[in-house]
Amino acid sequence: MLYDLHSHTRCSDGSLEPRELLARAVDKGVDVLAITDHDTLDAYQGLVRLEGRPELVVGIEFSTQWEATGIHVLGLDVDPGSEAIHAGVRYQTHARLLRARRIGEILGKKGVPDAFAGASALARGSYIGRPHFARHLVNVGKARSIEDAFRRFVGDGKAGDVKQHWADLPQIVQWIRDANGIPVLAHPLKYKLTRTRLKRLLAAFVAAGGQGIEVISGQQNPQQTASLGRLCKELNLLASCGSDFHAPDVRWAELGAFAPLPAGVTPVWERFR
Ligand code: AMP
Ligand code: MN
Ligand code: MN
Ligand code: MN
Repeated sequence: MLYDLHSHTRCSDGSLEPRELLARAVDKGVDVLAITDHDTLDAYQGLVRLEGRPELVVGIEFSTQWEATGIHVLGLDVDPGSEAIHAGVRYQTHARLLRARRIGEILGKKGVPDAFAGASALARGSYIGRPHFARHLVNVGKARSIEDAFRRFVGDGKAGDVKQHWADLPQIVQWIRDANGIPVLAHPLKYKLTRTRLKRLLAAFVAAGGQGIEVISGQQNPQQTASLGRLCKELNLLASCGSDFHAPDVRWAELGAFAPLPAGVTPVWERFR
């Protein structure tokens, strides 16, 4: 059974419609898929459950911060009808709007005109994020490419990387738990923390009620997998795996294209309802 428990659609910053994502997952041999858009469940609205594969696990990827580092927490197998998860989505959607206005002000001071209006025009639905600002920066000629826009304006640690509006880590974890979901720390190596700080983050995550980590996130090297596998066992956490698929042209994050979980970890799906 191939589980891909981290993917995005056009409802956040992915490029495929939900039903196109499902069709691609079938193509790539994925048996069980979680759509985990950033801070929204919109992809699940009106998504016709296909007969057979892929089986869908309801998921979400929440944005938050810990000690000034932006981090992402997946909620897997959440009950989409629960009031808690909708309270979380409402809060984060409002936070995104306030944050987008703030990013607009900051970019304005850096000589980028109409950034909030520009990014809003590119956004659809409840997600407005840094990728929209990056596209606006390219559109108005302030950046040469999306990559360049992230590197100079909105990437992690840059002026447009605004994080203070998000709900805090304990609140995020609580919403997921209250929705009968499993909180999983997404891509633990992406935050570029030292081993000591990563362990501190994991201690805070567990204290808040966090239950799992992504041991596999897309294509990573065997040393990274072994190291996260050890950490997972040491801390008695559940192990998740996913591609973090956003768009068809990204080679290292294709649906289902990643190594199996290392031996000895407990797969998160053993706890699915
Ligand atoms: P936000 O949700 O507004 O914080 O935007 C973050 C999203 O931007 C991430 O989920 C990535 O999909 C995307 N992103 C982050 N860094 C880069 C980058 N250097 N180039 C392209 N996209 C990026
Ligand atoms: Mn993204
Ligand atoms: Mn993420
Ligand atoms: Mn993601």
